Amino acid sequence: MEQPRIPTEENTVLTTGAGNPIGDKLNVLTVGPRGPMLMQDVAFTDEMAHFSRERIPERVVHAKGAGAFGYFEVTDDITKYTKAKVFDRIGKKTDIAVRFSTVAGEAGSADTVRDPRGFALKFYTEDGIWDLVGNNTPIFFIKDPILFPSFIHSQKRNPQTNLKDPDMVWDFWSLRPESLHQVSLLFSDRGIPDGFRFMNGYGSHTFKLVNEQGKAVYCKFNYKTNQGIKNLTVEEADRLVVQDPDYATRDLFQAIAQKDFPSWTMYIQVMTFEEAEKCPFNPFDLTKVWPHKEYPLIRVGKFVLNRNPENYFAEVEQIAFDPGNMPPGIESSPDKMLQGRLFSYPDTHRYRLGPNYLHIPVNCPRIAKVCNYQRDGPMCIFASPSHLPNYYPNSFTPPQHRPNLKESTFQSTGDIDRHDNSEEDNVSQTREFYRKTLSPEERKRLCENIAGHLKDAQLFIQERAVKNFNDVDPEYGANIQALLNKYNAANGTKKPLHNYTSYVCPKAQ
Ligand code: NDP
Repeated sequence: MEQPRIPTEENTVLTTGAGNPIGDKLNVLTVGPRGPMLMQDVAFTDEMAHFSRERIPERVVHAKGAGAFGYFEVTDDITKYTKAKVFDRIGKKTDIAVRFSTVAGEAGSADTVRDPRGFALKFYTEDGIWDLVGNNTPIFFIKDPILFPSFIHSQKRNPQTNLKDPDMVWDFWSLRPESLHQVSLLFSDRGIPDGFRFMNGYGSHTFKLVNEQGKAVYCKFNYKTNQGIKNLTVEEADRLVVQDPDYATRDLFQAIAQKDFPSWTMYIQVMTFEEAEKCPFNPFDLTKVWPHKEYPLIRVGKFVLNRNPENYFAEVEQIAFDPGNMPPGIESSPDKMLQGRLFSYPDTHRYRLGPNYLHIPVNCPRIAKVCNYQRDGPMCIFASPSHLPNYYPNSFTPPQHRPNLKESTFQSTGDIDRHDNSEEDNVSQTREFYRKTLSPEERKRLCENIAGHLKDAQLFIQERAVKNFNDVDPEYGANIQALLNKYNAANGTKKPLHNYTSYVCPKAQ
């Protein structure tokens, strides 16, 4: 189909959206030079009505982002773990799309804020789309998806003041100590990466890999930047918020435009079902890492970003990732957060882009042939062939499902209940991070960064938060408290920005 185009040749005629030539695109149609205007000026109404509809709903999270395209190349054989065709031979290349983002800010917000970075990969495989929708951190703030809307509300704007509210942020975090690990990563130096090229990425969730024989193992995906890790200091980041709020977007686009193509090396970590049974922590808990010593990194391949989008709206704003898009050989695990996202991602795309969002070119499976009995709906682009029925089974088309492509089987037992895992060791890995991963200088900056933000919350929230850091390591809590004491002595404690005074959460007593 011929696409609408911006005129490039001198004799090209300007048209309406319907292709009707326009005689004058500079002056509206009026009765006499001073008006009034006429309804019959469809050149105006066509233009204005389309303009009014240019924005689609902003993503509720990850609204500000940048995207690029490239390829994934297999460098090492992992066919003993997975039959996924994307990994089936060394040297194989698969087209990919990537979108980087911040999480809590709006579409126009600054790139250099302290926030996790989204790191979402889309692989256009022979067996359809594979979306690996991760972050630049291997873990997350919560482990139960029922908390996700509240968690995000606490990080975004206060519904009355429309201001970011440190009380909301720290109230939620301090009531949920499972956030300690991710909060510690967030306030470390890696909490403000120097653009998108200089950070690692993680599939974050636990997934399952299944081989040709149907044998499954659990797996994590990690991608390490080949540019090296680079972070911004708080001072640099604050300066850029004012001077170049699109710093990371610009850096990515310019690097690719100048053929300085960024790349990452991809690794997996593997855990057998037997190891998962004996694992001292819950391997499906998104607030935990799989320690590298026990679950070493296994190199798989690399990906390279070598093409910028031609059109930001078409290819980046409309790109839609869904962790449920998994080709045979890659499956979900009991990770509750992953299970929750299997619902929420396609759900939000159906709202944001419409039920036929997979017809949009950047989301199309491209090299896989889509064959299903889904029909029609708003903005249906594909016409279904008239000689094929729209129901299944039928007497006219052969059965197309293949039993050898069924999901792997696994057993599960247990009481159906709303199981509370919130108290499951929230401190050991955070302690390891604080004591062993960070250098003394990094620990100092971590405490300063936390105190510099926590100081704006009310005293009882500060106290609860410090108690949690104290549980990780008494030095961690004491250092933050000492800094808070200085701030509070100099400025007094903050008055709340909100009216949430009629009740106090029981745990705060
Ligand atoms: P390891 O020493 O084997 O791994 C430490 C990991 O931490 C490395 O992947 C390293 O990434 C990363 N790292 C190093 N310095 C920093 C830093 N300043 N800020 C954030 N991350 C950093 O130990 P474990 O695997 O037992 O992990 C110990 C702790 O390290 C974890 O509890 C977790 O907090 C953190 N961590 C662990 C990761 C994992 O997948 N196991 C990944 C990221 C963090 P790199 O080598 O790329 O520099």
